[in-house]
Amino acid sequence: MHKLRKPKLGQNFLVDDRARHQIADSLGDLSQRTVIEIGPGHGAITDILATRCQRLIALELDRSLAAELRFRFRERINVQIVEADVLATDLLSFAQPGTTVDIIGNLPYYITSDILLHLFAAATAGILGRAALMMQREVADRVSAAPGVRDYGLLSATTQMYAQVDNLFTLPPEAFNPPPDVYSTVLRLHFAPRFAELGVDPAGFDAFLKQAFAQKRKTLQNNLRFAGVDPQLLAEKWPAGIPAQSRAEQLPLEDMAQLYLALR
Ligand code: SAM
Repeated sequence: MHKLRKPKLGQNFLVDDRARHQIADSLGDLSQRTVIEIGPGHGAITDILATRCQRLIALELDRSLAAELRFRFRERINVQIVEADVLATDLLSFAQPGTTVDIIGNLPYYITSDILLHLFAAATAGILGRAALMMQREVADRVSAAPGVRDYGLLSATTQMYAQVDNLFTLPPEAFNPPPDVYSTVLRLHFAPRFAELGVDPAGFDAFLKQAFAQKRKTLQNNLRFAGVDPQLLAEKWPAGIPAQSRAEQLPLEDMAQLYLALR
């Protein structure tokens, strides 16, 4: 029996002309912006961005694709094609002091979560403005879900500590060549980390969220107990406004932060 072979490096290239324009349009006027494109591939979105951005840096891991693009854009002084792994690239090096950069990418789906975490680290350093990111629909639904709905979980809570998220549009497999076996959704992220506003430290609170969401079927108190939080501390310091039987998936980030501070 034939099995569909997965393309290497998540290479499903966008072939829907309207969609590539919609992605490029989704961050508005880019004429004064530095934009980093993750995984430009054959340049479906790069072609449009090159004429619009003040500066475009395209990070492509595939050597032959990077060479193809370097040749195509050789006369555009605002475009820099970098053959590199986005996860090993220091995004801070592309931001002038005191400025922010924007991110665009039809992401290689096999490393979506790692790329998000990499972006959050850059957001903590205050160098990110906005991002338009295409990812597998199910992942996008989780990233953008609100507390209390089925898809809300650790990925939603973590992302929403760093950015406001808009779910823009969804594309069928036929929008790509070769078609992936999933639908794809474009999200827009407006980076605005909430740690200072909620009075929590990024490293400690990120770790707390991991403990709180460790097992979906358990109550929050059980997850925290399992993570080693002293039951007596839980009993004494649990905030009165948060029901004792709550699950992490039900609580807004304000409540999570209140709980974290109470239990510290
Ligand atoms: N932007 C193109 C498009 O929309 O047609 C290509 C998108 S394709 C889904 C993902 C691209 O990311 C591929 O060109 C792939 O080679 C590149 N890629 C995969 N892993 C990467 C990594 N770790 N760092 C940078 N680029 C990567």
